[in-house]
Amino acid sequence: TNSNNNEKTHVFKSKLPDIPINNHLPVHTYCFENLSTFADNPCLIAGSTGKSYSFAETHLICRRTAAGLAGLGIKKGDVIMILLQNCAEFVFSFMGASMIGAVTTTANPFYTSPEIFKQFKGSQAKIIITQSQYVDKLRDSNEKFPEIGEDFTVITVDDPPENCLHFSALSEANENQIPQVSIDPDDAVALPFSSGTTGLPKGVILTHKSLITSVAQQVDGENPNLFLKGDDVVLCVLPLFHIYSLNSVLLCSLRAGSAVLLMQKFEIRALLELIQKHKVSVAAVVPPLVLALAKNPMVAEFDLSSIRVVLSGAAPLGKELEGALRSRVPQAILGQGYGMTEAGPVLSMCLAFAKQPFPTKSGSCGTVVRNAELKVIDPDSENIGYLNDPEATATTIDIEGWLHTGDIGYVDDDDEIFIVDRVKEIIKFKGFQVPPAELEALLINHSCIADAAVVPQKDEVAGEVPVAFVVRTKGLELTEEAVKEYVANQVVFYKRLHKVYFVHAIPKSPSGKILRKDLRAKLATPPSS
Ligand code: ATP
Ligand code: MG
Repeated sequence: TNSNNNEKTHVFKSKLPDIPINNHLPVHTYCFENLSTFADNPCLIAGSTGKSYSFAETHLICRRTAAGLAGLGIKKGDVIMILLQNCAEFVFSFMGASMIGAVTTTANPFYTSPEIFKQFKGSQAKIIITQSQYVDKLRDSNEKFPEIGEDFTVITVDDPPENCLHFSALSEANENQIPQVSIDPDDAVALPFSSGTTGLPKGVILTHKSLITSVAQQVDGENPNLFLKGDDVVLCVLPLFHIYSLNSVLLCSLRAGSAVLLMQKFEIRALLELIQKHKVSVAAVVPPLVLALAKNPMVAEFDLSSIRVVLSGAAPLGKELEGALRSRVPQAILGQGYGMTEAGPVLSMCLAFAKQPFPTKSGSCGTVVRNAELKVIDPDSENIGYLNDPEATATTIDIEGWLHTGDIGYVDDDDEIFIVDRVKEIIKFKGFQVPPAELEALLINHSCIADAAVVPQKDEVAGEVPVAFVVRTKGLELTEEAVKEYVANQVVFYKRLHKVYFVHAIPKSPSGKILRKDLRAKLATPPSS
């Protein structure tokens, strides 16, 4: 936050000039706009099988899938649900749907049956594209759900179980039979869900225009903020059902002509093998993955010298952890992007990733992207009337059109953005504010600590006190006292830890965020005796 009341000094812009953005196009047209210049280059590589699709092949299968969806009765404005781990069919389905003006809602395949159906019904999806292993979740439920095959269609990318169709029903359709639809830039194309870090995940309506704008802000222009090259291999291990991977990995790579290496799920050895084998040059990661890359001894066995860029986003990344990663990939440029689903998603991006890079600082989340403005306001300020309700404003667009992020941070003299934590996560010790992310960064820097999370615990005297959940590094000993002392030596008195709970793992969302709400709930429930 910034206490300066002069409005002008609060608004920040990119150091890069604004650019014209082709945001009148549908997103598939925009993403494949430059296809002819790299038609035969690899576009999608399936990590598990090594199967690769060129840009021309990818475009063709997307068009066939579009025709196939239309053949199943999907019309403009209809919603399809993708319930898949990362795979080529995800891309064909998403782009195919876009081509006929349909909307894709992306869901986490690890969701339970009720979670899936909540999203399915909420979005009024007509079909579900999934893997056979998840089909049971679409039948097995106590509530009365519609019948697969009768009320809705299920398509599997592998052997279809009873009443389901195989994906070839879509991908082998005739691409000349795509219905002509006129798509408005303000039509919805994607319905991703927010991570559910602060409450229930929120369905976010993203239009063709909003997705294109975000991609363009990253990879378009003479000097792209995120410079992706035709010979780059971009790691796609973060789930495509989340907007970070969907936009900054997939759509940006399609637009720029880079290859996307699809990995179904994160597993450290397989990941390292794939990076080495396919010479990954751009790694899009989240802090839990950085933690693994920085701390896992296995990393030393692999050649990671192909990596030239590591982009971290979705949650705070401490300077110390960034430093630890740097020692593992000394040749790479490390930096962050910052965004939120509602923004489609990117708000800021490290300028060291630009074609003509700028110097940047460790710990920064980058600079606001071009063609956008960022304003820092005092959350307690009276300037905007309803700002005193952080619950509502955190997700609200105000009358002037500003999207309120709900994050606490500051912008330094070089216009670099530093996100400290979320308004909702700040611990209030007496009158003092304690950002848990700051303490977590200190904790994971300890060699005996594999992972950690900090949350508030209710306290009669102080209101709230910071307490930590700590995962010990395997084979190493560590006491509660040692942890408390380690932190106390580095922080002001009110940020000291009052309790340390040793646990086996820290709950995290698939998009890489610590689920502090789950830990708070744990504290609130008395241990069963
Ligand atoms: P929900 O809104 O459902 O509670 P969420 O806000 O975590 O969940 P997302 O839209 O996936 O859902 O995440 C956006 C949030 O992620 C931002 O508001 C911010 O708190 C956090 N974030 C994103 N990038 C960064 C970053 N580089 N550093 C710190 N925090 C980040
Ligand atoms: Mg949010």
